[in-house]
Amino acid sequence: MNFNSALENIKSYEAGKPIELVVREYGIDKKDIVKLASNENPFGCSPKVKDAVRAIIDNMSLYPDDSMVKLKNALSQKYGINTDELIIGAGSDQVIEFAIHAKAHNGSKVLMNSVTFAMYEIYAKQVGAVIVRTASREHNMEEFYALYQEHKPSIIFLCTPNNPTGDALDTRSMISFIEKVDNDTLVIVDGAYMEYARFKDPSKAVEPKDLIQKFDNVLFLGTFSKAYGLGGMRVGYGIASEPIITALYKVRPPFNITTLSLEAASVALEDEAFVVECITDNFKEMKRYEVFADEKGIQIIQSYTNFVTLSLPDAKNSSQIAQALLKKGMIIRDLSSYGLNAIRVTIGTQVQNSRFFELCEPLL
Ligand SMILES: *Cc1c(COP(=O)(O)O)cnc(C)c1O
Repeated sequence: MNFNSALENIKSYEAGKPIELVVREYGIDKKDIVKLASNENPFGCSPKVKDAVRAIIDNMSLYPDDSMVKLKNALSQKYGINTDELIIGAGSDQVIEFAIHAKAHNGSKVLMNSVTFAMYEIYAKQVGAVIVRTASREHNMEEFYALYQEHKPSIIFLCTPNNPTGDALDTRSMISFIEKVDNDTLVIVDGAYMEYARFKDPSKAVEPKDLIQKFDNVLFLGTFSKAYGLGGMRVGYGIASEPIITALYKVRPPFNITTLSLEAASVALEDEAFVVECITDNFKEMKRYEVFADEKGIQIIQSYTNFVTLSLPDAKNSSQIAQALLKKGMIIRDLSSYGLNAIRVTIGTQVQNSRFFELCEPLL
């Protein structure tokens, strides 16, 4: 059968291996498996969220509130923005999809970092857009500007902090870059890990309110999947000037967020103390990875997220190391498909991290 020819050069997204698959494939007991592959919060979500979801379990038979008023109000309060400057997606992934489908078309150019979140390319290719990438591993605003001038892309992605490398842009240099971009180019600032960056270094923090007040061509993305520990509930959001939000709404399917997910995300915002505790622990545990890498003479990229990227020496192959760890029940992310000889490891609990060091030690 012939399909849309735009699909021909798309490789479908490779998710972090789920625990169930490792149980089946390697016959390892579920309790002996540690998953540090998808940047989930190892402490899960706030207990208040679980109580709230249990309390509305009987609402499952009803369609969700498609105006999403409770969550929109909570987010607009948190960020000091209007509710019409906000769109909710099934993960921020879905907002990326909306944005690309609303803005780009066959032959449009989409500019992004050499190494960055894989879904940008997949959604862009769905509409036949052409991908333009910088050369450097970390975001370099001069390179971005040169390519912007050369290609006049319709969309530019800035992922800060960046996945899968963990580095973050300096907010001031990002703002001066956006100032030089024309109004018809949509600049998407993906802040999936912004809670971590804000905590670690205020000079890396992006305030969506400031961004959209200053620029009417910027879309900021946030998610509940990482710091808020709700990856399984699929809730993310976009913040932008009202005309952008109106356009994104035109490509949104109805009822795209479930009743339970809307409740979970709303209540998660009521327990910011939980999130701060998790982030504090994250950076405490990250130090252990830095010490480990140092002792092993391995290069670690300075990370503003809940994961670390370990660049391996030439003598070690990241795919082989990931495979060897997997056989022992340790799921991490091999970055060879990104063209890096590196592995990405989500910061887990103290016990999970110790297990990683123990299993990884003999392999390096
Ligand atoms: C995890 C992630 C997302 C999206 O996560 P959702 O679960 O779809 O909200 C978006 N961008 C980056 C860079 C991510 O790492």
